Amino acid sequence: MLNVLSREEAVSLIKEKTADIVPATEKVNISDTLGRMPAQDIVAAENIPAFDRTTVDGYAVIAADTFGSGASMPAQLDIIGEIPMGESADFTLKSGQCAKISTGGMLPKGADAAVMVEHTDNADGLCLIYKSVAPYENVTKKGDDIALGETALKKGSKITSAEIGVLAALGIYEIPVYKKPVLAIISTGDEIVKGNIKQGQIRDVNTFLLSAAAKEYGCEVYEYGAVKDDRNEIETALKNCINQADAVLISGGSSAGTRDMTVEIIDSLGKAYFHGIAMKPGKPTIFGIVENKPVFGLPGHPLAAYFVFRLIVSEYLNNIMNMPADKPKKSGVLAVNIPSNHGREEFLCVKYDENNEVVPVHTKSGIVSVLSESEGFIRIERNAEGMFKGTTVEIYEL
Ligand code: AMP
Ligand code: MG
Repeated sequence: MLNVLSREEAVSLIKEKTADIVPATEKVNISDTLGRMPAQDIVAAENIPAFDRTTVDGYAVIAADTFGSGASMPAQLDIIGEIPMGESADFTLKSGQCAKISTGGMLPKGADAAVMVEHTDNADGLCLIYKSVAPYENVTKKGDDIALGETALKKGSKITSAEIGVLAALGIYEIPVYKKPVLAIISTGDEIVKGNIKQGQIRDVNTFLLSAAAKEYGCEVYEYGAVKDDRNEIETALKNCINQADAVLISGGSSAGTRDMTVEIIDSLGKAYFHGIAMKPGKPTIFGIVENKPVFGLPGHPLAAYFVFRLIVSEYLNNIMNMPADKPKKSGVLAVNIPSNHGREEFLCVKYDENNEVVPVHTKSGIVSVLSESEGFIRIERNAEGMFKGTTVEIYEL
């Protein structure tokens, strides 16, 4: 079955085969939406602010009344009242008049600017203004923050504290979000154990690493744990996970070795669509569908499993929840030449050196600590013969 696809081909095949999978939605209180994905655009049904507001403590004025005023020639305006916070003024300002106002207060009718108290003097009911203001100076106009009809929250943009603030301003306290997809995680390998290990055994890393990565992508996780390289055990695990989850990740047992039966099991319970992607790490990646649920076979090597999650599984998650593909957020200049001519798209963990230039973090096979030492990873194109020192590279965050 090892017909190797490019990453783009793999991603688009997954997209095509999972096109009819739509996550359910649920209404959630905004206080519980941090990190969730909105299931629809949220449009502002009102203006924020709902009225013209001052941004300073001082006097609401008609800007034209202050024109030409300066330190030696202050404008003189009658103070006709004070606007209490949280209330609207019950008067209209006419030329020659002003009213006391505090930051955030509502401008009275007729006023179109505010003068900072620092630029005024108050003498016998008269306000002396030492600095002219332009129309709407020191004012946030109605709808300046969020205008009626504006999209306040876009479908597919992960909700952060900033968006929750916007929703609160609009008085929207409950919104529809996608239900968290449940990802089941199975680790395979006769040598894989949790807890105490004997000579020759190694601890299960993938269950925990992939579970955390899945949670970072807004998933819930069903950790099945580690199973032996045994057809019945793997089959039982996969059937159980298909019942419990929306998608399944099986790590290990995905290379073309004699004991590697993951692809056969997926194909016997459903259909395996590919086995092999021209990427490094991550070549022995499997994708199939069992009972209309995607099943991803990941390499056993924890670093490779992580990359396949970040570059393949994440695309599937982004896709069903309408999220844009991950983009590199940092960049830097390579401090060294990086050779590569594998005919595979390559991903390399990197960090900044003492000169703030980018260097690879060397990956000895089987070592997982490389992830925690890295700043992120770079991408080397499939047909590039490496990259030269001095090249600016984009860095994907881990
Ligand atoms: P495999 O894909 O099964 O051939 O595994 C490749 C390498 O990754 C082997 O050295 C395994 O021991 C190791 N490996 C597989 N699964 C895990 C796991 N869950 N945690 C840590 N290492 C693993
Ligand atoms: Mg194995």
